Amino acid sequence: MDITEVEDLLNSLRLLGLMAPQHIFLVDEEISMQVDGKVLFRGVAPAGGNAIVLSTKTSNLTTPAHEIAHTLGFGEFAADLIGKLAALKYNVTRQLPFSGLRLREVKYQEVDDLPPQFKGRVRHYVRV
Ligand SMILES: [Zn+2]
Repeated sequence: MDITEVEDLLNSLRLLGLMAPQHIFLVDEEISMQVDGKVLFRGVAPAGGNAIVLSTKTSNLTTPAHEIAHTLGFGEFAADLIGKLAALKYNVTRQLPFSGLRLREVKYQEVDDLPPQFKGRVRHYVRV
């Protein structure tokens, strides 16, 4: 996913827009962790932070809402459900006529404040 797609998704559901995180990090790599073999993540919600991290390689339409649900304290089962509902709603909304004219309430702007080792690999967006 790119940031425009994430914005469109967050704007398609008012409730999701209200919960949109302050920070979104897009990573052009797989996000993995070594737990009894390799575990791949589509995204991550850092604990206690108003931020989500999405992999542009492996995230899909369910991922932003899934990770936002985690930032609100929901567990895996609820996050899966919320992610799927948001993707469903987005897919319905974008087929409606005039959906492109909808007011865009959630908008992000890229900021260039990452340490050098992340340059070219991670993009940091802040809600405006
Ligand atoms: Zn999860």
